[in-house]
Amino acid sequence: MTDRKIPVMIPMLGEEEAQAAAEAVRSGWVAQGPRVARFEQEFASLVGAGHGVAVSSCTTGLHLSLVLLGVGPGDEVVVPSLSFIATANAVRYVGATPVFADVDLATGNLTVETIDAVRTPRTRAVIAVHQGGVPFDTVGLRKAAEGWGIGLVEDAACAAGSTAYGQPVGAGAAIAAWSFHPRKVITTGEGGMVTVDDAGQAARLRRLREHGMNVSAADRHASKQPVLEAYLETAYNYRMTDIQAAVGLVQLGRLAGLVAQRRELAARYQELLAGIDGLVPVRDPAYGQTNYQSFWVLLDGFPVGRDEVLSELAARGVSARRGIMAAHLEPAYSDMAPVSLPVTERLTSDSLILPLHHALTADDQDHIVGILRELASR
Ligand SMILES: *Cc1c(COP(=O)(O)O)cnc(C)c1O
Repeated sequence: MTDRKIPVMIPMLGEEEAQAAAEAVRSGWVAQGPRVARFEQEFASLVGAGHGVAVSSCTTGLHLSLVLLGVGPGDEVVVPSLSFIATANAVRYVGATPVFADVDLATGNLTVETIDAVRTPRTRAVIAVHQGGVPFDTVGLRKAAEGWGIGLVEDAACAAGSTAYGQPVGAGAAIAAWSFHPRKVITTGEGGMVTVDDAGQAARLRRLREHGMNVSAADRHASKQPVLEAYLETAYNYRMTDIQAAVGLVQLGRLAGLVAQRRELAARYQELLAGIDGLVPVRDPAYGQTNYQSFWVLLDGFPVGRDEVLSELAARGVSARRGIMAAHLEPAYSDMAPVSLPVTERLTSDSLILPLHHALTADDQDHIVGILRELASR
C-alpha cells in the first residue's frame, strides 16, 4: 500500500493570480469591465484570432455561436458523440437536432469523411472538436464546410496552445469556442471565450452575451454623457467577471510554459509506454501539435479491461479517468434513433486518461507506468 495521491489534473495557480484577483476586488469594478476587455484582446492575439468575446463558459460560447449562425428548429448540426456532453447540448439549446458522426481512431476527431457520411440537406452547421487538445485537420475541415455551404463552429475548449499547420488553432477559424474550466490547461475558475475573424460578428456576440444591449455596461459607465441603451434582441447574460479576467490575464503568461512542460511529460510517458504491449498512447497528428490537455491511452489487446485498470490505479493512489465520454450512450440522448459509431464506442470504452499536470514528477510517472507494466504481465 502507499499513501501516494496523484490527481489526474491540477490547475497551475500561483500568488500572482491571487493578487490579480484581489486587485480587481479592491478596484471596485468586479463585473465585466476593463480587465475583460484586455483579456479578450490578449487571448485573441495569442491564439491567432481576430476578435475575442469573453463569456461565462465554453458551453455558453457554443450556444452563442449557433445563435450567431442562425441555427434553429428544423436544422441539423453534425457533432461528434465522442466529446464532453456540452458539445451536443448546445445544439439542443437552439432547438436544432444534433446528428452524431464518428471519429478517427488516432486523433479522436471528426474527419471530412465521417461528417460527409451523416450530412443531409438539413445540415446547417457542424461543431468539430479539437479533442483533448489534439487538433483536427483544420485545412481539410474548413475547406469542406465552405464547399458544403455549412457553418463550422470549432469547439476549442481544450485546445489553447495547440497548433495545426504551423499556426495556433484559433488562426483561420471562422468561429471557435474556448474553455477556462480548471480541467483545461489555463483557467479562470469558470469562463470561456468565443473568437471570430469578422468584426461585425464580434459586435453581435458582445450584444448576445449582454442582454441584447447596444452599449455595454462598462461603456455606459465610462461615458460623460448619460447613455440610453436599447435592447435590440432577446439575448442572454453570459458575461465573464473582471475578477475572472484578472486571473486569466496572469494565466495567459503561463500558457506557453505549461504547454511545453506538458509536451515533455507526454513524450516521457510515450517512451515508457512504448515497451508495453497493448497500450497505444495519443500522439501528435502529422499536421499539428497537441497541448496534451488530455493524455489518453487506448487499450488494444491489453490483457486487463479498462475499468479494472482504473481500479488498480486508484487502489495505488493514481486518479486516472475513463476515456472521453460518448454522448449517444447517455440517458439524455436515449430518445435518439440508434446510430452506428464503432470508433467512438471503442475509444470511449477502451481508453483511459492518465494524470498530466505541472506538478507531476518523473517518479510519479514511473509509479504509474510500473502499475501498467505489472498488469500487462498478468
Ligand atoms: C470542457 C469542455 C466543454 C465545456 O467547457 P465549459 O467551459 O466547462 O463549459 C465543451 N466542450 C469540450 C470538448 C470540453 O472539453
